[in-house]
Amino acid sequence: MSYQQPEPIACDCCLMPLSYGRHYCRSETRRGPATFPYTLCLDCASDEANDARSQVDVFVLRRAGRFSPQWETAVRSVLAVQA
Ligand SMILES: [Zn+2]
Repeated sequence: MSYQQPEPIACDCCLMPLSYGRHYCRSETRRGPATFPYTLCLDCASDEANDARSQVDVFVLRRAGRFSPQWETAVRSVLAVQA
């Protein structure tokens, strides 16, 4: 068994921290060969405006940026190629 770092979980829309026990909605979006996950609190997930592809890109990048700036740059370039 390998040790896995816990994901930094917060709503990728309103940035509310999704702490232990709080309900949230995990989604992912496909761009070419890649799949990018993002997480929304239930309030933001129920907002239909957040289904728009341009919004989803914002969520994916925000989430990537929480891991590291390098990862955000990498994800941004994939999104640009697959736009
Ligand atoms: Zn939210």
